Amino acid sequence: MSCKAGQRHHPVRIRQRRLTETLPGLGQPSSVFSINLPVPDLSAWRKSPCRIPGVLEFDSGHSGPEILIIGLIHGNEYAAGWALERLRRRNPVPPTGRLTLIAANLDAFDSFDPDAPVLARYLDEDLNRLWHHTRLEGRDRSRELDRARQMLPFIERADILLDLHSTLWPSDPFFIAPPRQRSTELACALASGQDLPDTVLTDLGHHGGSRLIEHAHFMASMGTARSCLLEAGPHWEPGTVTVMEKVIDRLLLEVDSIHLHGRAVQNGQSSELALVTDNVMARSADFSFIHPWKGGSIIAQAGTVIATDGHDVICTPYDDCLLIVPNLRPRRGQLAVRLARRTAAHFKPQADARS
Ligand SMILES: [Zn+2]
Repeated sequence: MSCKAGQRHHPVRIRQRRLTETLPGLGQPSSVFSINLPVPDLSAWRKSPCRIPGVLEFDSGHSGPEILIIGLIHGNEYAAGWALERLRRRNPVPPTGRLTLIAANLDAFDSFDPDAPVLARYLDEDLNRLWHHTRLEGRDRSRELDRARQMLPFIERADILLDLHSTLWPSDPFFIAPPRQRSTELACALASGQDLPDTVLTDLGHHGGSRLIEHAHFMASMGTARSCLLEAGPHWEPGTVTVMEKVIDRLLLEVDSIHLHGRAVQNGQSSELALVTDNVMARSADFSFIHPWKGGSIIAQAGTVIATDGHDVICTPYDDCLLIVPNLRPRRGQLAVRLARRTAAHFKPQADARS
């Protein structure tokens, strides 16, 4: 079946009159995750000359772009802690402008327990779901909201934001850009580096709340600030740190060109854009994928059954459907997988990304 971009050929969710017994559900796989990366020593981040813990500034003393690289928005994603700490040790003063590094949720990071590694994601609430002005300027208090308000001056001065993340379930690395041309340009400029993640995902936000990359500073229609998020691979794998370091190196090398022109000078590959079309939520307690797909898998045929959910089957709505980080053990009401359509647009090396 051929599939033109934009066309859907098949509904995502189909109610079965009788639960079919022919589909081989995975059942609920074990949620024991292997930890192959030691916890980094981030003691140097506790005391900062700017008196905000976790915030370090490297100022060239010359005018130029304000670069912000942030990690540990989720406290258990400490591959980013390794990448930031290794960068700090290099004393990364840029030739122009200022580089700010932030280890965001050090308090959640401190609570990391290898016997319950998922719990250290946050203390009170998800720090990457509260970047809307109604939350930031509201009366609510939480440890994450307090921290977000403390970091806000550094966010609001950034010309370029790179937000480092990793995934609980196995996935190829990819970038996420908010739906602004200037941020897609940033992500594609990074993704076009040799041997870097080449997929750039755009979506219309996260169902749970505003992410940092969607803060108004980066979304204002007349603004110039660019943001993107890197999902660099599984949380506790050394290879995830390597991906983060390569992307950081490329950003620091190409920052002037990206800042001024929205594209890099040196390119090694095309980047590929994909648009999230569906958030598939688990409606029952026995949501089950029929195969343990890794994030980044592409399902060729529209209508392919990928999961069962109670009496429903979950199908791919179009050909070449991209699976974004399948949660192989979703609880009822949780996001099980996001589906993305690869768009016809490719950002080719040497092409003018502004056209
Ligand atoms: Zn994260």
